[in-house]
Amino acid sequence: MTSFASTVFCRTQRVCQHLPVFLNTFLVFSITGEVSYLVLVEAPLEAEPKKKEWTACWKVVHLLAQYFMLGNICWNALLFLKTNPSIKGVFLGGDGLGQGWRYCYTCETHTPPRCSHCYDCKVCVLRRDHHCVFFGQCVGFHNYRYFLSCLLFMWSGLLYAVVMNAEVFIVILKEGVTLHSVLLLLIPWIMLVSGKVSARAFAFAFIADTCVVGLLLVSAFFFFHLFLMFRGQTTREWYSSRRPYSLGLLGNLRHMLGVRWYLCWLSPLIPSPLPGDGINFQVTGSLEPSQ
Ligand SMILES: [Zn+2]
Ligand SMILES: [Zn+2]
Repeated sequence: MTSFASTVFCRTQRVCQHLPVFLNTFLVFSITGEVSYLVLVEAPLEAEPKKKEWTACWKVVHLLAQYFMLGNICWNALLFLKTNPSIKGVFLGGDGLGQGWRYCYTCETHTPPRCSHCYDCKVCVLRRDHHCVFFGQCVGFHNYRYFLSCLLFMWSGLLYAVVMNAEVFIVILKEGVTLHSVLLLLIPWIMLVSGKVSARAFAFAFIADTCVVGLLLVSAFFFFHLFLMFRGQTTREWYSSRRPYSLGLLGNLRHMLGVRWYLCWLSPLIPSPLPGDGINFQVTGSLEPSQ
């Protein structure tokens, strides 16, 4: 019975670990589907009937932009998950006892500076930034570029979706700021379950709401990580008020995104080798907390 309970617990834990990835994938594809629908079908339904219908060329431009962003989100997410950021299979060097090196009792090995153990991934990760719960994987030296590019396209995609959905808000609020319209925007699920709105109105209100909430959330993550990248700092170092590895703005960009930092964010297919090895780092400041 105990082994059955532990099997059930392990399976539930595994499903829960992957749940955010499934949920995010579902939301990304739902939002893209909805904005494509808005472009192809609803675009002519402007508030004022005098406005002209979008031309086929303009619709194609919109669809290409949408699928470029979707492709980048999916490809970067895939490469992020496939790129192993841990010390597994990495030759850490013979001596391993220089400045900043530590011993990990769980992995039973000496680990280089900026490397730390992740209790979710159960392994030490090179230049570990944080464990991303949305992907169920650590952000480290080798997969940082894909993480940041994915955030960039999620942010731009959500910004675009919010602009496109502005019309949905206008249509909902066209009847005025009534209790019905406010409740539909704030609690669309309850309005659907109580039979106060159609499934179509619910779907539009739900996706429009998701875009706004998602944009606020992703903006916070994206700008925080941009700020850290410019400063050459990991989230861990920021928490402990240390910034000993900053190489200046251009140096930090090169170190985080690779030698083609100015181009590589356009597509994950553009090669951009990282200048370092994730083991040795140039120390430019105090290793002690500044406060
Ligand atoms: Zn470890
Ligand atoms: Zn982790």
